[in-house]
Amino acid sequence: MIEVVLKKGKEKAVLHRHPWVFSGAIENVKGKPANGDVVKLIDAKGAFMAYGFYNDRSRVALRLLEWDETVEINEQWFRGKVADAVAGRGDILLDGVTNTCRLIFSESDYLPGLIVDKYAGHLAVQVLTSGIEKMMPCIIDELQRLLNPESIFDKSDASSRNHEGLETQNIVLAGNHPPERVEVIENGIRYNINIAEGQKSGFYCDQRDNRKIVASYASGKKVLDCFSYTGGFTLNSLKSGAASVTSVDSSVLAIDTLKENVLLNNFDTGKVTTIASDVNKQLRKFREDGELFDIVVLDPPKYAPSRSALDKASRAYKDLNRLGMLLLNKGGLLATYSCSGAMNMETFKQVLAWAALDAGKQVQFINQFCQPEDHPVRSSFPEGEYLKGLLCRVF
Ligand code: SAH
Repeated sequence: MIEVVLKKGKEKAVLHRHPWVFSGAIENVKGKPANGDVVKLIDAKGAFMAYGFYNDRSRVALRLLEWDETVEINEQWFRGKVADAVAGRGDILLDGVTNTCRLIFSESDYLPGLIVDKYAGHLAVQVLTSGIEKMMPCIIDELQRLLNPESIFDKSDASSRNHEGLETQNIVLAGNHPPERVEVIENGIRYNINIAEGQKSGFYCDQRDNRKIVASYASGKKVLDCFSYTGGFTLNSLKSGAASVTSVDSSVLAIDTLKENVLLNNFDTGKVTTIASDVNKQLRKFREDGELFDIVVLDPPKYAPSRSALDKASRAYKDLNRLGMLLLNKGGLLATYSCSGAMNMETFKQVLAWAALDAGKQVQFINQFCQPEDHPVRSSFPEGEYLKGLLCRVF
């Protein structure tokens, strides 16, 4: 196995089992590994440190897999990690309540670059590293052995594939092409998912628990669901007896699917207003019209793709939340989220405090939101924690 020598002084993160080694931390490579090969990382004195995937096209040149020298990184190793991850999701998948979740979450499940989402009997996969790409035949085989899915579809259209020098691809990996509409159930609510055409891998299952928490306040309330996508917060609020829900998203396809989903659940269409528009524009329009709500949900896309974008993103989050606060009745609730990994909870609270000052409002944080158990945070990889939110009472 080809050896990669770590620069002296760069050992700490590796010893703490952080799975990334940046190219700048590498002293030299003893040989010519192909991208995606498993290599052995050694320290400056030649002692074993870890095994990992190599890629000279990526800023993260090594993605570490195993810290025990005696363990062989073979097909069995990958099958074992897949099986561990799948077994860990058993508690989420309850008959008739929820049959969609993330089965494998990349580094957090010890499989750097592999994401697998389950949609009823179908699987959507993202392959984001050359190392995982090489192991896909055995990973697909293991998923078939464990779950016998109707289809496995590769939804690897993420920009991170380009960082590894991989082409974007959308192909059937096993079984048939997934149908245009796959019906799933989450929190007892039915959704149509378009795996091939939808955003991300089709659905944002990371908000499953947070939708339930917000809905628990919605009975009899006038709700505004901003960045609604296909209606996660809208449908949970309707199920809890909201008086009305207004859903705003810029994607016409998402809004059309949301309307389908309202019908699919036999909810009262008269209670739902959908607006296919830019949220920032629409919130200003509500303000001009003097429209107020009891609950405002703000679940925007990732504003800060990296730490360097955090300042600009913080201003955008502040402005969005300021507008949201101004549209609430006295004592109303703002459920606000950030899925930017670069934004931590402390900074997010600070952003909300600025927004409150600018809006001339008083804000209490009454609950905190995080990502659910099928998006685990590995103790040695804090970067895996990305979703956070605050439930605010606004006066
Ligand atoms: N709350 C949703 C997930 C939101 S994902 C759920 O529970 O499923 C973010 C959404 O924001 C996407 O649907 C995207 O189409 C939408 N979006 C992105 N930028 C937007 C903008 N400027 N105005 C309105 N919607 C936007």
